[in-house]
Amino acid sequence: MQKRMSEKELLSHFDEALEKGYIFAYYQPQFNHSTGRMIGAEALMRWVDPKYGMQYPSDFIPVLEEQDLLYKADIKMVEVACKLLRFCFDNHLPVVPISFNMSRNDIYKHEYVEEVEKIRDYYSIPVRYLRVEITETSAIGGTELVAAVIEKFHKYGYIVEMDDFGSGYSSLNILKDLNVDIIKLDLKFLDGGSGGRGGIIIKSVVQMAKWLKTPVIAEGVETAKQADFMNSIGCNYLQGYLYSKPLPEEQFLEKIQITIHETMTPTTNYSDEFDVDKFWDPESFETMIFSNFVGGAAIFSYDKGDMELIRVNKKYIETISMNLSEKDFVDTDPATFFAPGEIDVFVETIKKAIVSHDEEICDTWRTFTSRCCGKEDICIRTSMRLIGNAESEYIFYAIIQNVTAEKKIYASMADSEKRFKYAFEHSNTYAWEYMIDNKEMRPCFRCMRDLGLPPLLKNYPEPAIEVGIIPFDYADMYRDWHKQLEKGTESLEAIIPLTKQRIPFVVKYTTEFDDNGRPVKAYGSATAVAQNLENAD
Ligand code: C2E
Ligand code: CA
Ligand code: CA
Repeated sequence: MQKRMSEKELLSHFDEALEKGYIFAYYQPQFNHSTGRMIGAEALMRWVDPKYGMQYPSDFIPVLEEQDLLYKADIKMVEVACKLLRFCFDNHLPVVPISFNMSRNDIYKHEYVEEVEKIRDYYSIPVRYLRVEITETSAIGGTELVAAVIEKFHKYGYIVEMDDFGSGYSSLNILKDLNVDIIKLDLKFLDGGSGGRGGIIIKSVVQMAKWLKTPVIAEGVETAKQADFMNSIGCNYLQGYLYSKPLPEEQFLEKIQITIHETMTPTTNYSDEFDVDKFWDPESFETMIFSNFVGGAAIFSYDKGDMELIRVNKKYIETISMNLSEKDFVDTDPATFFAPGEIDVFVETIKKAIVSHDEEICDTWRTFTSRCCGKEDICIRTSMRLIGNAESEYIFYAIIQNVTAEKKIYASMADSEKRFKYAFEHSNTYAWEYMIDNKEMRPCFRCMRDLGLPPLLKNYPEPAIEVGIIPFDYADMYRDWHKQLEKGTESLEAIIPLTKQRIPFVVKYTTEFDDNGRPVKAYGSATAVAQNLENAD
């Protein structure tokens, strides 16, 4: 007989059910699709009442949660799972790690981790046989508390899984904040077909998880088609009705004995599994975006001073104008391309990006030797952003731009600037540019040095009047000059006693016009009168 218990019945029977063992676990095995071997199982809560029969989590968990009772049931699940594992060890039966579910409630119980640990200790279960599942939604309202619980579990050596990944609204953000070891991707949340949006999202998540070197278990796999799709995108770990429904203890024990098991590759060793070839799959959606829409782009890793290009696109190589293939290029140590000293600048930027989690930019010179062009020095502007990390390895997405021409123009401008600087020194002339449109004034080097001006003055000429460079009784005349410039006066000239010392200067303006005859800029100069007289002699 099976009948859904009412809320009242659930609550009044709860203590008895816990005590008498009506609340216990079913176990759903997890498999490696490639090898067919079992890699673990998830403990799922069941309540079998002697009178009402089987009750499912969706019926009673919300009620228990509401009354803050789920915590007790969750702890009970850890206990029954440990008991089962102990039974297997004692009877020399095959064993796989068992995952237990942690609820939002448990996070607020300060002793939760310690209680789990106490039970594990009591049954002497090696910690690698227990995994804890935390749902993405338990982080709603803030990740700090969850992060602290994960940290605690990690201290004891537990593997932590992110359950129901993709069910929340900010999955990717949460992944950044929570240091989980395994991602569980529920196909039902993502419209698990291989085509369409769902398929693309699943593919991207699996790909990203690889960058993060975090294994993914796909749950809710019901059809062979879904299993094959997951396999084809590099996710081999599956759980779902296709393989097995959740099983009562005895059936699970039978199953475990007739199935070969293997250990799921733990996070730290996942690099062997890191399938670079998949990454290069020319058919993939990511490749298409990466190759065609983003300019010069690269994915690279940084680990304690070592840099490695994981992937670059065609435009990246074009930007650097080299004759190498993508693969050859990626296989060369990127450090060898940097001009001396430049790598330090690059590494500094990497470190900044690790801390800021934001885009960081640097310009660095590289020397490339290509078959066609010989040796070439180019300056590359790199905008980089951290996209993931595993242990001490950090993974970045970088967009590059060749700024060599720009740099060379600046260098030559700096040269001519230098020439003017000396010419001004000798002629005792001060010079500036006045932008007619926005009233900005850019003084020359001498103005900045001798008069203490900043490189840019806004709302000119007011600041010059304010600090007394233009004496008060000349202020209105000088203001009027700037109005005339706006109206298109070609040139202006007068002797103005400048500074508090009232030193007479010949002050001149010459206006520059655009193609439509509109005044854009005026070049100002002030030459000491005494100097002029000397010159006239
Ligand atoms: P969950 O943690 O996501 O567990 C997976 C659920 O999907 C289970 O439902 C499982 O029976 C079901 N499932 C497995 N394979 C398939 C499949 O191929 N297709 C479909 N459609 N479903 C599949 P179940 O056992 O009813 O549990 C429901 C939820 O209740 C769990 O979702 C979990 O959130 C919660 N729950 C279960 N046991 C516990 C527990 O011990 N503690 C806590 N806090 N929550 C639990
Ligand atoms: Ca779960
Ligand atoms: Ca789940």
